[in-house]
Formats: sequence, C-alpha cells, structure tokens
Amino acid sequence: MKKDTPKKNTAQSARPGVTPPSSLNPGWRRFIRQSSTPSYESLTERLLEGDRVALGQAITLIESTLPKHIEQAHYLIEHCLPQSGNSTRIGITGAPGAGKSTFIDALGETLIESGHQVAVLAIDPSSQLSKGSILGDKTRMPILANAPQAFIRPSPSGNSLGGVARKTRETILLCEAAGFDTVIVETVGVGQSETAVHSMVDFFILLLIPGAGDELQGIKRGIVEMADLILVNKADGEQLLQAQLAQAAYRNALHFYPARENGWAPPVRLCSALCREGIAETEDLIREYAAQMQSNGYFQHKRQGQAHYWMREAIAEQLHQLFYGHPDVQHALPNLEAEVADGKKSPFHAAEELLRIFIQSGQ
Ligand code: GDP
Repeated sequence: MKKDTPKKNTAQSARPGVTPPSSLNPGWRRFIRQSSTPSYESLTERLLEGDRVALGQAITLIESTLPKHIEQAHYLIEHCLPQSGNSTRIGITGAPGAGKSTFIDALGETLIESGHQVAVLAIDPSSQLSKGSILGDKTRMPILANAPQAFIRPSPSGNSLGGVARKTRETILLCEAAGFDTVIVETVGVGQSETAVHSMVDFFILLLIPGAGDELQGIKRGIVEMADLILVNKADGEQLLQAQLAQAAYRNALHFYPARENGWAPPVRLCSALCREGIAETEDLIREYAAQMQSNGYFQHKRQGQAHYWMREAIAEQLHQLFYGHPDVQHALPNLEAEVADGKKSPFHAAEELLRIFIQSGQ
C-alpha cells in the first residue's frame, strides 16, 4: 500500500512548533495553537469550568509521584486555590460494616435533592496493602454513582498516612474549585486516619452500630471527643431497642467530657441509613452547626488552624523524604542502625550523627 506523504502547504504538513504556511486553514491553525498549549493548563481551565473528566484527570495528576507531575500539580493547586473553600466539608468515620457507604449514599441523595453538588472522597491507609480501596467504592454507593451531581473518588494509595491524607486534602480543594459545595470524606476508625480526616473537615460524624457488646468498647476515646455528631445507625426493626440503649449510653458518657470551646454540644441521634430515617435531620443539623460556627467566627478559626496544621504536616513529610532519600544518609544509615542494635551507640547519638551528615551535606 502506498504510504501517505503530507502534501506541501496543506494542513497535513502543519505540526506543533512549526510555523504553518500562510495558506493554512484558520480553523486548523487554531487547533494547532490549542494542542500545543501545555495540557495541564487547559486541564486547569476545564476543571474550573466544572468538567468532571478534567477533575478526575487532575486528581490523578496530584496523586502521581513523578517529579514532572508534582510540578504540574503545584500549578494546578495554586490556580484552583482562589476558587476553593466554598464548601461544607463533612467527615464520616465508623467501624467496617457500620453502614458508612449506605449512609453516605442516603445523605448524598438528600443533599442533591436540596440542590447541592456532592463529592465523596476516602482515606484508607490500608489501600496499598489491600490493592484497591474498599472505601469510596462506587458500587457501594449506587445512587451517588449514577447521579450527575455527585463525584466519587476512592482513596489515593500511598506508603504513609500523611502522604495519603495530603493528597485527599488537595483533592478537596480541586473538588471545590470544580464547583462541589459539599465534600464528604470517609474513613474507617482504625489507626490515625480519623484524626487525619478530622483535621480537614468542618463537621465530623461518628457512625456507630447498636448492640456491639459494651457500647463504649472498641471506640477510642479520642474519636468520641472529635465527633460533632454521634449517629447510632441501624435503628430499625429488631435493632431499634438496642439502638436506643446505645444512644442513652453515649449521651450519658458525653456528660463527662468537658464543654467545647466552640459552644457546640455534640448530639447523639438515631438513624437508619437503610430506611432513610434520620437523614434529612442530619442535613438540618449540619446546616445548623455551620450557621452557628459562621456566626461565632469558629468556622474561619478552625479552617485557619487546619491550614497551619497542613502546612506543618507538609513540611514534616517533605523533610522526611529529603532526609531518607539523601544518598549520604542512605549510605550511613545501615552501619548506624547496626551499632544501635548492638548497643554500641545510643539511638539519640546515632540520630544526631545522621542529622549532622544531612545538614553538612548542604541539603
Ligand atoms: P460500611 O462498611 O461502614 O460502609 O457499611 P455498609 O454501608 O457497607 O453496610 C454494611 C451492612 O449493613 C450492609 O449489609 C447494609 O445493607 C447494612 N446496613 C447499612 N445501614 C443499615 C441500616 O440503617 N439498617 C440496617 N438494618 N442495615 C443497614
């Protein structure tokens, strides 16, 4: 077969970076200009216009660890920042099986009916091990998965919770810039992930199951202290009585906690995500909380505190990477570890020595 060769002075001969001949069709000329624009710039533009495909691509870019992508991700985030911040950020935690995805699907549906645009993100530090996150799984939220007003993104993978959480926080900013006015972040109440989620949301919900033995067992004290709302889910059918007992036990327990600086007394409520009971009330409560916190200035105060916290976390994360990624440190580390293991050197002395190596390297 005869191979097509581009004809001279026609559109076929035009290539990005090559000055097109004057006879070139103006439409084609415009196309060349557009396609030679760095893709991440047009990606940012499309994202700011609310394009969901662009949002998905942008999140993939910020999740990438390639140096080239990190630079583009910085551009993206810097340009999205002025358009972000205008959402209610809701965190949800609870043990596996507590009904988080059923509840998020129900709450999301209610929010959409009220005219909101809902993004659902997840933080699952175990996703690296399980090769795919169970949190934020679209099949577990069938209503939201099919709603054009919703966007679901599973947990980013990563080696450290800090890294995973940072990417989720950046994703919140991108979702807001793309026009989502409600962002829900889901996590499982294990490890420190609920602390990470708490530090990036305005309103934090703890979802519990009734009748799990001693109601206060298995739930770390710290989580109860962080919650702005405790919801006993599955308050339906035969579990209703147990749910009421759990509610009474938690109400009682909360009396022993000191009053909050923001003046909010976290309620303990019942709900049934499956029967859609207590869902609209939850939406009302979140709205009430947001209004109260806006008027007493705590909303802004909390967000500023969170931004500072994330700045320090980002510094710690980057220092960690720089330190352990440094060739001199990598070279000295095994010997020093062996000396520490043999008791020849104290861990503190070894740490000082490594830090000196790092600092003297001029890094
Ligand atoms: P997750 O692991 O916390 O996300 O929990 P799921 O949403 O996947 O729910 C776990 C199981 O509990 C599923 O079989 C749900 O159908 C069921 N479930 C969730 N919410 C309710 C509820 O309100 N009442 C009842 N009876 N079952 C529920």
